[in-house]
Amino acid sequence: MTVRLFNTMSRKIEDFQPLAAGKVGFYSCGPTVYHYAHIGNLRYFIQNDILKRMLIENDYDVTHVMNITDVGHLTSDADSGEDKMEKGAARDNKSVWEIARFYTDEFLKDFDDLNLVRPTFMPKATDYIQEQIDLVKKLEELGYTYTIEEDGIYYDTSKFPGYGKLTGGSLSGNRAGARVEFNSSKRNPTDFALWKFSPKDEKRQMEWDSPWGIGFPGWHTECCAMSMKLLGNHFDIHAGGEDLSRVHHNNEIAQSEPIVGAPWVKYWLHTSFLVDKSGEKMSKSNGEFLNMDALRKRGYDPMVYKYMVLLSHFQAQLAFSWEGLDAASNGYKNIIKKVAALIDADDNTNVDKTIYDDWHKKILSSVSDNLKTAEALVYVQELLKDQSVNSATKLALFEFIDRLLGLQFLARAKKLKAAEEEVAPQEIQKLANKRIEAKKEKNWALADELRNQIDQAGWSVIDTKDGAKLVKKS
Ligand code: AMP
Ligand code: ZN
Repeated sequence: MTVRLFNTMSRKIEDFQPLAAGKVGFYSCGPTVYHYAHIGNLRYFIQNDILKRMLIENDYDVTHVMNITDVGHLTSDADSGEDKMEKGAARDNKSVWEIARFYTDEFLKDFDDLNLVRPTFMPKATDYIQEQIDLVKKLEELGYTYTIEEDGIYYDTSKFPGYGKLTGGSLSGNRAGARVEFNSSKRNPTDFALWKFSPKDEKRQMEWDSPWGIGFPGWHTECCAMSMKLLGNHFDIHAGGEDLSRVHHNNEIAQSEPIVGAPWVKYWLHTSFLVDKSGEKMSKSNGEFLNMDALRKRGYDPMVYKYMVLLSHFQAQLAFSWEGLDAASNGYKNIIKKVAALIDADDNTNVDKTIYDDWHKKILSSVSDNLKTAEALVYVQELLKDQSVNSATKLALFEFIDRLLGLQFLARAKKLKAAEEEVAPQEIQKLANKRIEAKKEKNWALADELRNQIDQAGWSVIDTKDGAKLVKKS
């Protein structure tokens, strides 16, 4: 099936043609582990997962690399300000290495809870310092670098004619790095640090020796060094959040293409932001954000958040609201109930291959067409309603839908059924019987109190026409 993707480089939706038949090299910029991932970050990781699942369903052999940024980026794009990792360590009263490990583990818990397929490789920036030094050395040999005393080795963007091409900028006019503060020692405002020197009067927790002295790599080198090492000099897809295109990705291109030739990467994909009601980007650095735990504490299943994300398109900003999440929760639970009913419907049918292929194609085409997940979810609803499709075919299609979207519809439906079938322990049944008595005696206060007790013990009482039913809460 044809895969079509919006390529930030060409600003067009293009037919996807891999560099090597049947194979895809995919690099996605990973988390900076100085704090919890917020649900905006997670939106982006969900979108990458959908891209990967869609390619796999189209029979591509995907090698996915996602880095873990555990070395400090400076809080400003101008290569100045505080080091994010050192700042996070001071906030948590731990070492930089400890917080890197802690927040990586926390991130991976969310990653797994969202049922995202683990990348083929998850390199840590601190494990690839030598490769980053080698990259800077190559750029130095090619004449792209200069030194700013007591600061670092910088990249001279005026030496790279295509600088800023990803976002349509150039050194004059609409500058790719225009938001970068002016540093008077730089030759050009868009120049960026390749290697920063450690301050003479300060011992940093993370620093390494290099041909230029003790210091640490600039924040754009890791993605180039690690992707080239693990995916080869050229690869198919590079992804990031929308904030990364203008500075980080333009700088990655400027560092790579003089070494490997253009184009370094064929397709660039950028996920738009999750914003709040007033349109503000959810951001880690200002410290005010919602993480997955905040949602869990309010009783939301991470899968509900994922469902909400997939109801939007990755190129459109998504405004988060609790009402939106509640609506997604109802929609998600409704699908689960309907799938559970399908499991119940024993109509002795077999999978109808023609009908299966038809729906498979419809749903996969939507996601293959620039990741139209919302359209695919409309088809999912239509499939559930379609009386002409038997339950065996529907269930087989749900196996495919779960592979493609990773929403665990079948697993959750089975869990719901198991909960419905679980027999309540005697003490809960006793409470339920007492409640029936209380209701007969019209003692509503006691009946309510008993319902609360049952609820707190993890069971729900559902009054049906055949009497009260006890269902284990999921
Ligand atoms: P970080 O952990 O800050 O390095 O960010 C990890 C990824 O999340 C990057 O690709 C960012 O572009 C992306 N990102 C950051 N904030 C948001 C947001 N509010 N919505 C969507 N993606 C985001
Ligand atoms: Zn990156």
